[in-house]
Amino acid sequence: MELQELWQSVLGELELQISKPNFQTWLKNSFLSDKKDETVCLSLESAFAKEWVSNKYHKIILKIIRNFDPEIKDIIYQIQPSEEKTKPTISPHIKKLEADILSKTLDFPNYSIDPKTNLNSKYTLQNFVVGANNELAYSAGLGVISEVGRKYNPLFIYGGVGLGKTHLIQGIGNELRKLSKNKINIRYVSSETFTNEVINGIRMKKMDDLKTKYRKVDVLIIDDIQFISGKEATQQEFFHTFNALYENNKQIIISSDRSPYLLSTLEERLRSRFEGGMVADISYPDHETRVAILKTKMDSQGKEIILNNDIFELISQKFPYNIRELEGALIRLLGMLKIRKLAPTIENTSAILDEINNHRIRMISPDNIIATVVEFYNTTEKEIIGHSRKKELVKPRQIIMYLLREDLKNSFSTIARKLGNRDHTTILHAYNKISKDIIKNKMLSQEINLIKEKIYNNN
Ligand code: ADP
Ligand code: MG
Repeated sequence: MELQELWQSVLGELELQISKPNFQTWLKNSFLSDKKDETVCLSLESAFAKEWVSNKYHKIILKIIRNFDPEIKDIIYQIQPSEEKTKPTISPHIKKLEADILSKTLDFPNYSIDPKTNLNSKYTLQNFVVGANNELAYSAGLGVISEVGRKYNPLFIYGGVGLGKTHLIQGIGNELRKLSKNKINIRYVSSETFTNEVINGIRMKKMDDLKTKYRKVDVLIIDDIQFISGKEATQQEFFHTFNALYENNKQIIISSDRSPYLLSTLEERLRSRFEGGMVADISYPDHETRVAILKTKMDSQGKEIILNNDIFELISQKFPYNIRELEGALIRLLGMLKIRKLAPTIENTSAILDEINNHRIRMISPDNIIATVVEFYNTTEKEIIGHSRKKELVKPRQIIMYLLREDLKNSFSTIARKLGNRDHTTILHAYNKISKDIIKNKMLSQEINLIKEKIYNNN
């Protein structure tokens, strides 16, 4: 069968199995560009279509293709934008504005930080959307509010970058502040600030002041505790503050990017204190939650641009990542629509979101992934490429193989070549193993999430 004919047959089947908008959005202008040995190459219109199709539809496409041609064992994906899209010429000034929108860290307006509590009023429980990903952490927060210092103490909330930890713990603080009419003494502090205060306290011989300051607090909220692990003096001071507050039934709320169990350089006694309270995680939001979050974010915007429901759905589909990125996509989209003076139609929005996503994905390369994993596990690229079977090396090596396949859709033989000319069945084996283990082994899946966050957020 000719490639073109084969693909037409596959599309015919696929059209029956996936929704029409999805079919239209992702597979329009797709074609098979090549077949080598047991692998076909599928060309898609954009980097985002590539990521989406290969993540969501790989299995089903492969299954259908194999019905027509059982010889095919794998699909690799490539981007080949259709030629028809001719871009209008853009002035350098607009180009610069657009580049800023795509690459800068953007945020909705900051509101104000209350000097007494250090809380930012933009984080409230009212604008915190509750979904399956955070409901345990949220209801633990409500528990804390109803019985400050007695129920769930300490409250330890953990989860990856940009999933809402800071929002939730500050929201709890703001709610307590409101309910108590400012009577409760609340203090929010990042663990970096806390560390600096301890260092300065020691240097200026003002530790007593610092001790008094924190021991007057009724509710201590400390963000990103992972930063104090490994810093001995800070841990010591935090431990003493913690004990003093805890013994007086004062409430402590902590956030961390990983569970207490994974805080490897945390003093044991601190860790067991954390584990003795309430530990709740926040994970990735599902589609419905993402849409709800987008709508909430729009409520705080001017009414200059109005997005209808389909657009929210589209943003959520194209940005199934953390909430900070989701929010970033929305802000960038609004910026681009404004600069280009475009109406927020599905076509315009879709094209802009693809641009935003292409920008994001272009930053990630195999070397990126390798370097991040190597750093995470404190090893070297040389050791990874080498053939030692030491446990400390086998695991990161397999994770690299897994990520190159899962995230970049490299073919097994490409990965094999990249990693010291191994046999491609080794890669297949590693990929299958990690895919399976990730489901059973929570620690592994958390580690891989942390690694992915580092890969995607360091850009
Ligand atoms: P983290 O501290 O976990 O890195 P943040 O709390 O800073 O994440 O959240 C990142 C962004 O996403 C913030 O702008 C926050 O308001 C928003 N956000 C996160 N979770 C929610 C949620 N459940 N509802 C509304 N906005 C959220
Ligand atoms: Mg945070």
